[in-house]
Amino acid sequence: MTTSLTAHVSLPTLGIFGGGQLGRMLAQAALPLGIRCAFLENAESSPAAVLGPVFGSGQLAEFQQAVTVLTLEFENTPLTEVDQALTTQLMHPPRIALATAQNRLLEKGLFDRLSIPTPAYRAIQTHRDLQMAVQELGLPLVVKTATGGYDGKGQWVIRDEASALPELWQHMQPAVPLIAEAFIAFEREVSIIAVRNQSGEIRCWPLAENHHHQGILSHSIVPAPRSEQLEQQAQAHMSVLMNELQYVGVMTLELFVTANGLLANEMAPRVHNSGHWSIEGAVCSQFENHIRAVADLPLGSTALVQPCVMVNVIGQHPDLAAVLAIPGAHVHFYGKTEREGRKLGHITLMPVPEMTQSQQISALKAILPNKLSLPD
Ligand code: AMP
Repeated sequence: MTTSLTAHVSLPTLGIFGGGQLGRMLAQAALPLGIRCAFLENAESSPAAVLGPVFGSGQLAEFQQAVTVLTLEFENTPLTEVDQALTTQLMHPPRIALATAQNRLLEKGLFDRLSIPTPAYRAIQTHRDLQMAVQELGLPLVVKTATGGYDGKGQWVIRDEASALPELWQHMQPAVPLIAEAFIAFEREVSIIAVRNQSGEIRCWPLAENHHHQGILSHSIVPAPRSEQLEQQAQAHMSVLMNELQYVGVMTLELFVTANGLLANEMAPRVHNSGHWSIEGAVCSQFENHIRAVADLPLGSTALVQPCVMVNVIGQHPDLAAVLAIPGAHVHFYGKTEREGRKLGHITLMPVPEMTQSQQISALKAILPNKLSLPD
């Protein structure tokens, strides 16, 4: 008997820039579809390595040969590598989305151009620029590196009198351009995640409410409570952004909720930590829909299955058996070694008849080595 493999021949092999947990979960979603992934990643051991070949940046040519279409999971991927790979392959999302997200000044400029409200900001190159920003935007003031920051790194909050500015300026010793932003006393932080396919169809997941601990996402609550109107605003911003960029794939927009509505903080041209809940909590996850969009396959539904909470595992692993003993807890460990502040996994708490959501959260909090900002 002969077996025909023709149905699979047309499926692409995805070349993913980055091989971290996002790459791993993308490849996990690709596997049942029969789509293979390869990764460009320099780290010694990467979470995605169990799911496909990993090429170092010295092996860019081999990576190009091994894949048919490019995508990314790491937004600080050097544009030089992307440009080299783009000589032979297409990439989704487009290069412009990556270049914009890599530079907070370009990103804010795009928000302004599209009339997406964002905190007032100034570009900072000199000490004088910083003084002017303090005068014009007032204190407190948030100063960030324009490129290369993540999880709250590369950020300073100037709270007190501007008299301390000279020392502060010395301390920053900026090797890269900086941006100063008005400090927003927001009510809470939310994110919207959406997918756009190659024909321009856009689908959004419900808004997530995000809580941080020491600059790192601690947990997300989905759907964000009291968020119907906010969700409409967020969806409108997202579709303007995605259409402008001719975006293909999953994109995330992080927003501050203020008394006057939403302010865009930053965009990520990729699947996002605040969307991990969608593996169990949505009809089609952010990972699968990204794969579908990149591979030009029909999009899946982004509808909520049930309200849920996603909790990050940071720094130290909890006891696996103890977590699994909590009804409704779904564990995702990324195969990483423990290190302070490192994202090692996440746990999604889905509703079950045996326990309320707050009982699940208390039970999880009792066994997590890192207490995060989970409510009591
Ligand atoms: P970012 O790296 O821009 O996502 O910032 C990390 C975190 O710092 C955000 O999630 C906020 O909690 C806080 N933050 C950033 N920008 C501002 C701002 N302009 N005002 C107040 N808090 C901010």
